[in-house]
Amino acid sequence: MTSNPEKFVERLCGWYERNKRALPFRETRDPYAILVAETMLQQTRMETALGYYERFLEAFPTVESLARADTDKVLKLWEGLGYYRRARNLQKAARIIVSDREGTFSADLESLRKLPGVGPYTAAALAAIAFGKKTPAVDGNVMRIMARIAGIFEDIDKTRTKNMVQDMLVTPMGHADPRTFTEALMELGALVCKKRPLCERCPLGEYCFAYKQDRVADFPVQRTKKAKTTETYQTFVVKNQRGILLEKRADKGLLGGLHTLPQYAKNLDRALAGLRADHNVQTEDIRPLGTFTHVFTHKIWRMEVFLVDTDTSGKGFHDPFSSAVAIARAHGKILSSLKEK
Ligand code: SF4
Repeated sequence: MTSNPEKFVERLCGWYERNKRALPFRETRDPYAILVAETMLQQTRMETALGYYERFLEAFPTVESLARADTDKVLKLWEGLGYYRRARNLQKAARIIVSDREGTFSADLESLRKLPGVGPYTAAALAAIAFGKKTPAVDGNVMRIMARIAGIFEDIDKTRTKNMVQDMLVTPMGHADPRTFTEALMELGALVCKKRPLCERCPLGEYCFAYKQDRVADFPVQRTKKAKTTETYQTFVVKNQRGILLEKRADKGLLGGLHTLPQYAKNLDRALAGLRADHNVQTEDIRPLGTFTHVFTHKIWRMEVFLVDTDTSGKGFHDPFSSAVAIARAHGKILSSLKEK
């Protein structure tokens, strides 16, 4: 990549020290707090994650407090962040650390990898940031930067390409403070070498194949992106005097353990019949509210939403804005838009 790794590191880390954003999780070396931050940031934008991070650590300041917490409370604090499996895994990891590891995180990469929800990137980032280990952490941002710098023509989603980039980073990381190096690469990906890079502001232009060859638009190479499938539902906001009808989903699977609105992948008549059979509600007073969509990692929900007013007072009606129920974001958005009207 470069014959002068010291200089590369100096340029990158010097830029970082001058330009880094003040972020709360950069103030700590507590592996638990760093794991919380890294888990939240896996699929969430920094601006969104920040508020959640602070609230989460306020509620569960230690790994012990998260381990003994009620899972519904954990999910409630995660509400709106999406990808709820992350919250469940975070709590499972906390429980393993407390019950099997005397409440202590190990600096060992393999041991970190055994924790639920901790993949190669998170383990390496944790080892480097919390424990100062020279373990290159390679996520999508780092792949994008390195594909451009090194002119990698391989598909960046392939494990072989990820391993290649990880190997490339070993030498420069060997000349750096691991924590600073890891955070500097992350920050470069977030602020400069973005999807649309700001090359004129980049400290690494002189090392960058794509920039020097005027081929920035050609990198990274990504051939394996799968198209998302679209699922269509009839979704019902069933309202009585007590609140809105919500279903609690099974713990396993998509949106496990969260509350959702009843919905059916059927035509409207059959969906209404399903609603009557499942919840014993009348469906005469029904009004369309429009079409909503929610995008998951691999699929899209397209929801035709209907308001159903009912006198039925069976089980399952909740105030959706109370602190007791964690609602999946796909449906929380619908309820929030109704509240605003
Ligand atoms: S010069 Fe441009 S493409 Fe190259 S690393 Fe910097 S920002 Fe990315």
